[in-house]
Amino acid sequence: MKLKMIFDYHTHTVFSHGKGSIEDNVKAAVEKGIKSIAITDHGPGHLTYGIKREAVKEMREEINRLKELYPEIEILLGVEANIVNKDNYIDISEEEAKEYDFVNAGYHYGVTNGYCIYNWLFEHGILKGSKRREKLSKRNTEMFLGAIEKNNIKILTHPGDKAPIDMEAVAKACAKKGVLMEISTHHSHLTVDEIKIAAKEDVSFVISSDAHNPERVGDFQGGIDRAVEAGLDLNRIVNILKED
Ligand SMILES: [Zn+2]
Ligand SMILES: [Zn+2]
Repeated sequence: MKLKMIFDYHTHTVFSHGKGSIEDNVKAAVEKGIKSIAITDHGPGHLTYGIKREAVKEMREEINRLKELYPEIEILLGVEANIVNKDNYIDISEEEAKEYDFVNAGYHYGVTNGYCIYNWLFEHGILKGSKRREKLSKRNTEMFLGAIEKNNIKILTHPGDKAPIDMEAVAKACAKKGVLMEISTHHSHLTVDEIKIAAKEDVSFVISSDAHNPERVGDFQGGIDRAVEAGLDLNRIVNILKED
């Protein structure tokens, strides 16, 4: 059985901290036979590599130019918003969201109001213990649930990465709102165990490259490997096509 990636809806460019241009990512996707690609640079709330809010217009214009040059592929402008513990729980307002074709959201360090220091210290083994984990997980989960509830998120990127969460509760919320849970081939999350937990809920999955350089656009094999190991029905991964 041959598998094919239909779309890659999580890629980065020089507009955040990716290495390639928008055109580089588009070209790479065309070469791999992908039908649709999204440019999803980091949300503006990231202190070091978030997109500049004023760059969005330039990105849109560039995508419009590339649509003419590469009619064989659909090119979308998304964003990977940062999940934060403030207002609508992401760093993209409802108004700003209209500038994009869709909004992904994920948790990252380097934002304000994201419990970043505590999560970083815990993930790096400096803060330890199950009680500490429970406490962090509780408030991280509340923040994630807020983000899912209050916004129209397409993909929850690399859930479980950089911060402990209650995967069952998050998967339930994703199922309810129709948010896709990402199996990232750039990060190790969802892990095999996390896929197993999430798969108990009525949620759909997506594999993304989260490419930070054009060569990695369309990279999906590692995600398939983890999904297979977790016993996931591959029909639940919305962007992978089985070719006989
Ligand atoms: Zn990310
Ligand atoms: Zn990313």
